[in-house]
Amino acid sequence: MSLFVGIDVGGTAIKHGVVTVAGDVLEDASLPTPRGGRDAILTALDLLVKAHGERHDIAGIGVGTAGAVDYATGTVRGHSPNIAGWEDTPVAAELSRRTSLPVTVDNDANCMALAETRAGAGRGSSFVFFLTLGTGVGSAVVYRGKLMRGAHSMGGEWGHATIVHEGRPCACGQRGHLEAYASATALTQRMLALVAEGVPSLYAKEAAGAELPGSREVFAAAAEGDKAAGRAIAETTAYLGTGIASAVNLLDPELVVIGGGMAAAGETFFAALRREVQARVHAGAADYVRIVPAALGNRAGLIGAALLCAERAQEQTA
Ligand SMILES: [Zn+2]
Repeated sequence: MSLFVGIDVGGTAIKHGVVTVAGDVLEDASLPTPRGGRDAILTALDLLVKAHGERHDIAGIGVGTAGAVDYATGTVRGHSPNIAGWEDTPVAAELSRRTSLPVTVDNDANCMALAETRAGAGRGSSFVFFLTLGTGVGSAVVYRGKLMRGAHSMGGEWGHATIVHEGRPCACGQRGHLEAYASATALTQRMLALVAEGVPSLYAKEAAGAELPGSREVFAAAAEGDKAAGRAIAETTAYLGTGIASAVNLLDPELVVIGGGMAAAGETFFAALRREVQARVHAGAADYVRIVPAALGNRAGLIGAALLCAERAQEQTA
């Protein structure tokens, strides 16, 4: 049985595990992302691969990482806002040199989308539109079971679709993008803005400088009847629905899968989101829209990275 190490390099943690070609995780763990830049991260990856290699016969390594990635060469392309010193790192070449194993590298949202399609919420579907809502909004399209990367492997970035002309500033430097309205960060910031405007909230006192609540806290507050939290969620859901409806009109996917922290928001949120999307898609699509939460939690990235490496190994032996 071929086994692969799957690694998910994020801004705060590196998640890793040993994964079968079917997407089953035999063991997994996590470590804080080293702060020392490129070499410190590559050294940590090398060590964790060697540790897995002591217990398993590893056939290859798949890495998913925040930021844009040139899939053909496995190089992080351009600036990765959450990982200092990571831009332009030839991750595949460097890790392959250190471990003597084949290495595949892709964007983390692509990895999550593939994992959810093959082994998670999208199992049985071959055409999935995937969005992950966290600090930012990552997205990817899986068509006929394969990631649709576009002509220059820059496609599928629906988090940077413009939904409001000249709207809120986005982390990418432009304005009005879905990410600035529908990420978990945008949700909590919107709630705090409403609190500052005087909308009643249990965060009214804390807003003056306390730690930012996460999306989980905002949903919990709304469930308790918090006015600011409820309004922020309603607005965020409408913007998210606007973005998803546009994607559905373009793609007509079998399934829309929502990952990231907000996937755990519960059925009330998903029901509202479906209504927002159905109200905005063209008439023919309304009956077919299916939107579901992701199923693999925070292991989706490492599972998908491993599956990508397994897929490339199979293509090369075919
Ligand atoms: Zn943007």
